[in-house]
Amino acid sequence: MAFFSLDDTIAAVSTPLGEGGIGIVKISGPQAVPILRQLFVRPGEPAGTHGDLPPRSLIWGHITDPQTRQAVDEALVVVMPAPHSYTCQNVVEIQSHGGIISVQKILQLTLSLGARLAEPGEMTLRAFINGRLDLAQAEAVLDIVQARTDAALRVAVDQLGGHLSAQIRHARSQLVEVLAYLEASIDFVEDEIPQQDILGPLSEARGAMTELLATADRGKIYRHGIHAAIVGRPNVGKSSLLNTLLRGDRAIVTPVPGTTRDTLQESINIQGIPVVLVDTAGIRSAAEGEVERLGVDRSRQALQRADLVLLVTDGSQPLTEEDWDIAASIGNKTVLVVINKCDLPTHQPPPGTLDQPTPLSDAPQIHISALTGQGIDQLEQLIADTVLGGQVFASDAPLVTSSRHQALLSAAVTQVTAAIEGHHLSRDADLIAIDLRDAVDSLGEITGETAGEDLLEVIFSRFCIGK
Ligand code: GDP
Repeated sequence: MAFFSLDDTIAAVSTPLGEGGIGIVKISGPQAVPILRQLFVRPGEPAGTHGDLPPRSLIWGHITDPQTRQAVDEALVVVMPAPHSYTCQNVVEIQSHGGIISVQKILQLTLSLGARLAEPGEMTLRAFINGRLDLAQAEAVLDIVQARTDAALRVAVDQLGGHLSAQIRHARSQLVEVLAYLEASIDFVEDEIPQQDILGPLSEARGAMTELLATADRGKIYRHGIHAAIVGRPNVGKSSLLNTLLRGDRAIVTPVPGTTRDTLQESINIQGIPVVLVDTAGIRSAAEGEVERLGVDRSRQALQRADLVLLVTDGSQPLTEEDWDIAASIGNKTVLVVINKCDLPTHQPPPGTLDQPTPLSDAPQIHISALTGQGIDQLEQLIADTVLGGQVFASDAPLVTSSRHQALLSAAVTQVTAAIEGHHLSRDADLIAIDLRDAVDSLGEITGETAGEDLLEVIFSRFCIGK
């Protein structure tokens, strides 16, 4: 299948389409340099006659159409010979002016000279097939491209560096060793091979995998972020809170897929966690009129999707029935009660009456002023603590950020547990070996040793073209 072949030469535009400072066409494969030679003209040299193209140096000249001899654009080109390139093949990058036509024209010329248009992720797939990256590292490339906060970027760069892979490999090699011993003991009579402790390495590998699994909830939060809904009756300060949270350097400018402006939804970075905040304007049920009903529906949906709810009340006013109704509509979501307007005198219950209880009195409460910004830092801290369960990101430990890795690790833990139980029950070595082989395969699917073509296609098709 062409996608897994390394023999043909592939080309793609590696920069976003549109007007920009530069545009890059990347070519990878055996014909990369010959194609460049037909296109590239340096000053004072007729086309096709140039001498050497020094590797890993920027060379200035013009890209010309070999048929018409017309210059398409001025360009800087760089040749990265195999194996010291992104794909481990001969790679050429042509940097031209970043106009749509210029870049597309250069791409078309490379295709007319024998290159094939690269599929999404095909450059990275070649790096994987050639052994420069394992599968978890290749997936990290996509995470880097998609990272929306510093923390998400740090976790992804760490994974690209091979930190997670190293731990997976270590656990896998422990299992492989035990498996080799078990298989030998099936084939040979007992006294022909020395007895070996299998429980020690199995427990150690399981312990390491369990530790990694314990990071998955946090890891996925850093990578995917959370949805938070701001709810409360009108005029308690929901939009003011959203605006205050958006101020400073918290706003994430990259649009989140699916973000729709009309639901007052914004993305912010709260201590490294990408948070999609939705201001649910109308959560009340008694809405009249089509537009209001749509608003109520949208608010309800936002509430349903939310991982965290910020229930805003007005601390300068007595609580109303509506506050209680809204609190009751939240259901069993994780809630923070945000008592706003602390810059105003706090509402005091009339003398002789009991203190008003607040809605959801079990939920953490915080006093803020969306107007003055008082308490906003503490609110952010509270959000991060609540979401991460008090566990912050320590940069020296790898985090599992992908559901795929989480599922495979979890399967491997179950399979190793079954092997350990089998050993305790003195089961036959070949039965224990079956569980262990499954565990070895599960771990191998994380780093790619045992990943089938279908899986690779699914993973790499998520990439953009040119990566
Ligand atoms: P929403 O209807 O819940 O979105 O409330 P808004 O954000 O529109 O605020 C309603 C009114 O309360 C506006 O006049 C705001 O200026 C005011 N407001 C919001 N937050 C505060 C605050 O912390 N202190 C004071 N004093 N006024 C606030």
